[in-house]
Formats: sequence, structure tokens, C-alpha cells
Amino acid sequence: MTDGAAPALQLDDLKVAYRVRGKDRPVLRGISLTIGRGESYGLVGESGCGKSTTALAVVGYLPSNGRVISGSIRVAGREVVGLEGNALRRLRAKDLSMVYQNPGQALNPSIRIGDQVAEVFRIGGAQHADALRRAQQALGKVQIADPGSVMTRYPHQLSGGMQQRVVIAMALASDPALLILDEPTTSLDATIEAEVLDLIQHLQQEFHSSVLFISHNLGVIAKMCERVGVLYAGRLVEEGPVQAVLNEPRHPYTVGLLRCVPRGGVRKDRGRLDTIPGFMASIEEQLPPCVFADRCALAQEICRTEEPPMHWVTKDHGSRCHFHEKAQDLPRVMSSELGKPLIVDRAVTPLLKVDDLAKRFNQHGRQITALAGVSGAIWPGETLGLVGESGSGKTTFAQTLLGLVSPSRGTVELNGRVLPPRLFDRTQTDVRVLQIVFQNPDSALNRRHSVRRILRRALKKLAGITGATADKRLVELTGAVRLAQRYLNVRPNQLSGGLKQRVAIARAFAGEPRLVICDEPTSSLDVSVQAAILNLLVELQAERKVAYLFISHDLGVVRYISDRIAVLYLGRLMEVGPAEVVFGAPHHPYTEALLSAVPTIDGGGRDRIKLAGEIPSAAAPPTGCVFHTRCHRFLGKICEEVEPPLVEVEAGHQMSCHIPLEELRRLQSEPREVATGEAL
Ligand code: SF4
Ligand code: SF4
Repeated sequence: MTDGAAPALQLDDLKVAYRVRGKDRPVLRGISLTIGRGESYGLVGESGCGKSTTALAVVGYLPSNGRVISGSIRVAGREVVGLEGNALRRLRAKDLSMVYQNPGQALNPSIRIGDQVAEVFRIGGAQHADALRRAQQALGKVQIADPGSVMTRYPHQLSGGMQQRVVIAMALASDPALLILDEPTTSLDATIEAEVLDLIQHLQQEFHSSVLFISHNLGVIAKMCERVGVLYAGRLVEEGPVQAVLNEPRHPYTVGLLRCVPRGGVRKDRGRLDTIPGFMASIEEQLPPCVFADRCALAQEICRTEEPPMHWVTKDHGSRCHFHEKAQDLPRVMSSELGKPLIVDRAVTPLLKVDDLAKRFNQHGRQITALAGVSGAIWPGETLGLVGESGSGKTTFAQTLLGLVSPSRGTVELNGRVLPPRLFDRTQTDVRVLQIVFQNPDSALNRRHSVRRILRRALKKLAGITGATADKRLVELTGAVRLAQRYLNVRPNQLSGGLKQRVAIARAFAGEPRLVICDEPTSSLDVSVQAAILNLLVELQAERKVAYLFISHDLGVVRYISDRIAVLYLGRLMEVGPAEVVFGAPHHPYTEALLSAVPTIDGGGRDRIKLAGEIPSAAAPPTGCVFHTRCHRFLGKICEEVEPPLVEVEAGHQMSCHIPLEELRRLQSEPREVATGEAL
């Protein structure tokens, strides 16, 4: 029996182990936490800290080699450790719901949406017709505009944001005592993420749901949660009200995590990001009494002999650190001082120049305009950040530069020379000079080869270097990307995500490129690893004067690394300008909306601008200004009928909007917009 007055979730000294190589390896080392009724609790920490294991233990889905060693898990007052069979199924059907990162995997691709949602009501005892009626109501509650039509569709016919709404509707259908959200918006665009987060907040208020929110994104946690717990190596090292923990952290790990995130307007020319030394311990490692001691710059002898108890700084803010009062004095790992700043000279011939670049595809008999005439330039040593939602044309633009896709119109010039459109027709030098680093390093690295072989092949292919010269260059190259020599003999799958990305960067740099396209290079990395990779890219740029086209959905990261920013929408440039100008007001209405969608650690971005609907199909782009169907500053007929040209509105700042710059400045001068832009 569940108890309506008991907390939604109570973990008491929960210990979970995975059996690996014949031994039980601790994954959760005594977690205690309580989530009250109607409360929203965030769990943060990097990969391997135990966030997902906590959720899986609660819903009874631990992998076959995992088991609860001791401790208790109570959902609405009912002990769930040891529940099996029907009792466990009833608990999952009635009291617990979980929403995962990838909504596509949670939905059955061969069953219509209506039947899938209705199934949840049928399990709860509803008759067929009643279940369908309630399914339609549930879809309406998650703000799906035309639930009747969505009921008849299959999952693949819905966008990622719509799929996640359906999954949330199913999760809430049983009115669960506890809703577990495991990175529910990580795979979504910022604007869609903001909508889904708003929806979850709204539903939480309506249903008074209790939520366990798991995320690596501290901004999302700041927006969504009242309290937060910071996990490290299976230990809850800090816990408290979200603003107290994020603004006044009392554990060195929390302090380190927060310093890794580019925010508060920090930029590459104003200081390096700090990182956390070392790596998260592997599951097989023996840990000292303070699980963070091996990576903590404040560690003393006592940290290796006595386990720190939870010290309560206030009645509800605790830190498991012997020296919690000194946590914020944690010495920086990276000196914030910079080397000589790299001055970008835009009076010289651009390194890369694109002129009226367009690409039309034929997809199932329909013409898709992925790029509609993009012009611009990148100079030696500069970083151009490229932002926009999925479907904006970012990837097609990068592929066209690389010659992987031939443009339908327009040219790409490198050092003043027009490049052949197809990679196949380009010279070895063209290939060497223009390289790419992907989001997923696995796609660039041959899993069967050692790191040494991968890099030697790249040196041979891109720089024509072999033999002893290659060995010498190999040492220089690995040194440049701060990759220890001992990794040369291992294969990529034996490396962590951050080390793999270093190998991928070394590979791209083997031929001394002049322009590297960085396609979401840090999106799949933890924040401490992301900070180290961003620092590395900045250092390589300063040393070698290499230019980057940096594609990312993370506007904080783009702001940190970019000299200039280009904003794409439906294959057209909406705005291009110096990073500080584009991020500060006045900016294009689309940029304004993108910036307001980002949840920030400092609590900005709460009053976001709601864009109507999702990005329209590139097969039938709107007339006039392509952004007019969603624009919150829409002027009327002129926006519907006349496409605004991309014009220079001030020195180095181009924009495509019918509203004059001064008018935009006035409109955007209200405190809300300034605050959201500045908070990043
Ligand atoms: S107890 Fe010691 S090692 Fe652990 S976090 Fe605190 S200072 Fe660092
Ligand atoms: S031209 Fe009109 S629709 Fe387009 S961004 Fe400007 S105000 Fe909005």
C-alpha cells in the first residue's frame, strides 16, 4: 500500500553494486535523499557518477549484473527493494513513470500514437472507447495542437519535440506519485527544449507531480528544480536548495563543475575555462574515504583516512567535505591568464569566402532548399560560430564547404581560389587545409587501429610524411593536443570520450589545416572534459593561427569561443556579426528568441520568448521573411510579402529584418531581453 502523506521518494543509505569480473563493484555508495510531495529534485553529476543507476534502481530496472546491496527505496511510503513480478509491475503502472532522453526509443514505431497512449489507460482498467477518449484528452494536456490527427499518426511522423510530448502524456496518464525525467530534453533544439521544459513545469503545477529530474545541464536544473543533489562516484556530495548550491557551492566538486561552464559572458580572450584534474574513477578502482580526494586540490591527510560526514551549512544545505567552508577557495587548475592575444586581420584576403551558396535537394519528389544563397567569409585565425535550430542548414553548409555535397549554385573560395565543388576533384592541399572534427569522434576513428596507426595514416595522407619524420611529428602532434604518449598503443574504444576527441583533433591537425570545421565537438562530453577541449582548441588557434567554423547548439559555448557569429534559419543568414554584438541587444528577432530559450545557471532566461510552432519545412518555406510565421516582432504584410535583404546595420554587423536597428534597440531595451542575453 502506498501512503498519500509519505514523501514521493525516500532513499535511505542505498547501496548498489554491479558484478564485474566476478566481484561486486560499488556504484551507489549509500545514497540518502527525500523528495517531498509536489517537489522537483534535480540530480546532477558527470558520466559514471551514478545518476542513471539511481533512477534504474528506483524503477527496478537495474541491469542483470546489478543489485541493491543494502538500504531502502520507498516510493510514496512503500518499500520497493525486493518487489518482484506483479507487485513491481503494478508499482510501475501506477506509482512511477519514467521519461528517457530519446523519445523515439520509448515509442513503438509500428503502433499509432493514439493506441499507444490509450494502452496506458487500458492497463489502468479503462474500456477501449474510454481509453481512446482519455488518450486524446491527455495529448491535449501536453499542448499538442491537433490531438485527433496526432492520434492517427506513427511516431516517425512526429518531430522529436512532439514525440517527447507524447511520452510525457503517457508518463502522466497514471497520475504517478513520482515522475522520473532522465535527460528528457538533451536531444532537442534549444527552442523545443524550452517549450518542453515549460510544459513540464506547467503540468507539474497542474498535477502536483513529484519529480526526480536527472540532467548534466546545470541551467536546466536551475530552471526546473527546487532542490538539487550533486553525485560523485556514487556518493551524494552536496545537497540543498538549487540557488544555494549553484550560487554558494560548498563542495569542491560542485565548485569545479560550475567553473567549467562558460557563462557570465566569459570569452576566450578574457580567460581560460577551468577544468577538474584527472578522471572519474572507474568502477573497478578502490576509492579513498573521500571519494573526490584524488581530484581535489584542497585534499589533506584526513580526507584519505576519514570519510567526511554530511556537514549541514544551513538546515537544508549540506556538503560532504571536511573543509566545506573553504570550498570556494579551491585553487584553479588552469591559470586564467592568457598568452598573447591573436589579432584577426580582416584587411587581408579571407581564408574562406562563400558567395551565394545554395543547395536544393530532391526528396521524395519534393524540392528541399537546404541553403538559399549564403555569402560570407572567414579570416585566418578567427572563429566563426554557426548557430540555428535543426533544419536551419548548418550541416549542409559544412558539407558543402568540405565538398561532400555539391552546391546547386554559388562558389567556395579558399585563399582566393575557387575550390572544385566535389571533394573528389580537390587537390591534396585543399583536403589538408580544410578539415573537420565531428561531434562523435568514433565516426572519425577506425576502431580496429591503434591511436599510433590512426595518426600515422593521417600524417601520411594529409602531410605526406612517413618513417622517422612521421614518428617525430607524431610526438609533436600528441604533445600539441596534450595526449600522453602511453595512449599511442591503445585503440579508440579503450579511451574516454574526451581522450577520443583529442585523438580526432590530432588527426584533423596532422596536415597543418588552415580551417577546421568543428561540428558540435563537445556536445557529447561532460562539462569538465568540454572545458579542457575548448581550452585546447583556443590554444591551438593561438599557436597556429588556424580558423574555426564552430557549429554548436550550446550558445554559451559558441559565445565563449567565437569572434563572430552567424545565425542561420531555413538556409538563410538572419544575422552575422561580432559575438558580443550578436549576443548583446539589439539583435535579430530570431537570435533574440534563441537567446531567451536558454536556461541559465544564474536563473536568466525564465521569461522566454515563445516562438510559434516549429521550424517550417524547407520544402515550402514561408513567403517574404521566412521567419514571419514564428516571429514575435512580426510587422504585418511587409514581412509576409517582402524578403528582407541581409544588410550591414552597423560596422561588421549584418541583419535581415524589416525593423530598423534603432527600433529594434528600443524594442529590445526592456530589462527582460538584456538580462537573458547577458546571463549566458
Ligand atoms: S573532504 Fe577533502 S578531498 Fe574531499 S572534497 Fe573535501 S577537501 Fe576535497
Ligand atoms: S522581417 Fe518581420 S518577420 Fe522577419 S524577423 Fe523582421 S519583424 Fe520578424
